Amino acid sequence: MIPPGSTIGILGGGQLGRMLAVAAARLGYRSHVFAPEASGPATEVAAEWTQGRFEDADAMKRFASKVDIATYEFENVDPHAVASLLAGRIPVRPSTFSLDISRYRPNEKDMVAHFGGRTADWRGVDDSGDLLRAIEEIGTPAILKTTLFGYDGKGQARIDTPEEAEVAWRTIGRPGSIAPGVCAILERRVDFTAEFSVILARAEDGTTAVYDTPENVHRDGILHTSTVPASPRVLEQAPEAVALARAVADRLGHVGVLTCEFFATADGPVFNEMAPRVHNSGHWTIEGADCSQFENHIRAICGLPLGSTAPTGARVTMENLLGADADRWPALLAEPATHLHLYGKRDAQPGRKMGHVTRVER
Ligand code: AMP
Repeated sequence: MIPPGSTIGILGGGQLGRMLAVAAARLGYRSHVFAPEASGPATEVAAEWTQGRFEDADAMKRFASKVDIATYEFENVDPHAVASLLAGRIPVRPSTFSLDISRYRPNEKDMVAHFGGRTADWRGVDDSGDLLRAIEEIGTPAILKTTLFGYDGKGQARIDTPEEAEVAWRTIGRPGSIAPGVCAILERRVDFTAEFSVILARAEDGTTAVYDTPENVHRDGILHTSTVPASPRVLEQAPEAVALARAVADRLGHVGVLTCEFFATADGPVFNEMAPRVHNSGHWTIEGADCSQFENHIRAICGLPLGSTAPTGARVTMENLLGADADRWPALLAEPATHLHLYGKRDAQPGRKMGHVTRVER
């Protein structure tokens, strides 16, 4: 058990780090962020900040000497760098096994398939010849995705006809793969009726707390809204998805929050991807559930009892504020029961996550 008063090290200084640090502070913990940037959304709310690359052994050593436990707010960290630099000195939760599986698309798909879950038909692709063969095998429409470093639809290209293969290959660029396997996958486009996610917190003793399943709407590959309760077409598929997410969390020995994203289809849930961490589709839990995903992550990694995931209202909606959307803040504040979150980012580029707003209907 890591008792209140201890210092939690957070790898990554974005808005997830900010909201984790706020939840940690409420429980009496200090947060120390480690990030490559000099500052970021977590700066204002963390007690300490170490700037460094994740591969920088000296910086990581200094960080490790000042924290009691380490966690991470994004999965694009080389698990082996983290393991060799932190393991043995302090606990790392979730473990590097969770990182290893969830940051590399083929690993997560293989694990899901192992538990009988469905994924979009896919093939590993390492050059443009592979890509043409993959298109022949799985057909179009399809999506080409980098195996590492993908998020918010980045590192992806749609392929509607085989003629678009070359452009798609150039669009994603051959990523500097540090993984042992392929650098990209071609995935058949799924004909879905809705998207949803399963967000659960798992304690070291295997206890899990599962949130009500939010229905998610994406625009241009980026999350736009999450709504609880989900529509009946999602609710009827949620139990199968929750069982799969639980099986994966158990297999990983996961400690902390785990998020799995799904497509609801005519043939049942199809797994899309997972994140070994708190997730944008769980932001509604801050005001919309008894205990938020951020607090439950802190509770799980510190060995405290998990909190209730019960919703606080009859309907909860979370809307992301991207780019100039955040300029709507005066009007949003004028709504009496709206919870506004701004991440303190200065540069409101189009598509950049600047904040979010949650509405809880009692
Ligand atoms: P991802 O980064 O893989 O979560 O993709 C971002 C979004 O792109 C998803 O939430 C979907 O809206 C869309 N997408 C990704 N993969 C597929 C697929 N195989 N079929 C249909 N839509 C997809």
